[in-house]
Amino acid sequence: MKAHKTLDKLKTYGTTESDVCVLCCGSHDTESHLFFDCSYSNNIWSSMLSLLNLRRIDGDVHFWIDWMAHHARGKSFKVWIRKTVLAATVYHIWNERNGRIFISIFNSKEKIRKQIRSVVILKARSWGGIGDTDENRSFCIA
Ligand SMILES: [Zn+2]
Repeated sequence: MKAHKTLDKLKTYGTTESDVCVLCCGSHDTESHLFFDCSYSNNIWSSMLSLLNLRRIDGDVHFWIDWMAHHARGKSFKVWIRKTVLAATVYHIWNERNGRIFISIFNSKEKIRKQIRSVVILKARSWGGIGDTDENRSFCIA
């Protein structure tokens, strides 16, 4: 998570004057805020987690790294789809944030959720071997 050049870091380098999050109003653009505390991101996370039959639980970056270490092990479809949805969500939140800063394009939360779902559906089609089980059918991605 230290690889993201969030505005709080860029402000310390002197490359930007503002470190205000561009996804919500008034908070500082830190990794923790952007991916875990931001109201815009939280709304997207809640929707994506509900597709995986999971609920959003408050926690900092360390909590979520521990959570992933325990809940995303193995090679089952459940594990694969959790990893894929989580990675796609992080990517799309980061991409939306960069689009707003660098090319002034603003997408709604609904559009981001649709983009994430589209990517996951496309990847799931290429995954193959998805067992026809109640658990696999419970993932409401399609
Ligand atoms: Zn924010």
